[in-house]
Amino acid sequence: MSMEFPENLRKTKSRIQVWEVLSEAKIPLTARKISEDSGVWLSSVYRALDAFEKSHAVSKTVLKDSQEALYAIASPGHHHYAICMNCKSRTELEGCPFGDESALHTVDHDFVVVGHVVEVFGYCKKCRGKMQKSPHSEEHGDR
Ligand SMILES: [Zn+2]
Ligand SMILES: [Zn+2]
Repeated sequence: MSMEFPENLRKTKSRIQVWEVLSEAKIPLTARKISEDSGVWLSSVYRALDAFEKSHAVSKTVLKDSQEALYAIASPGHHHYAICMNCKSRTELEGCPFGDESALHTVDHDFVVVGHVVEVFGYCKKCRGKMQKSPHSEEHGDR
């Protein structure tokens, strides 16, 4: 299932190639992997991703303890995703933990919030299944 190129962005060759790779990807990708798969120079991939991110067409996640960000096409509207730290699969969060942004205030009330990023990570069902088969996992029950 291929997603439409964002309407509000100028089409350049590298943007189109990056978009094609992202729209065919089943899991979020690093810029390096996008560069490999598209044949676009890494620096151009970053520029394209930057433009996509600014227009909210692509979401960026940096997993804890990871140097490299993961990029994926964002479905239209307000969504957040949880990413599996093992297989990098992505699943949508039910609703937004912040709800309406107008309800967010800083301590000094002098700051206008216009956006937020939520990073959620853990382990998907498949990976938890695999982990439970390994010998050391049994001492940690579900919390
Ligand atoms: Zn997983
Ligand atoms: Zn939100």
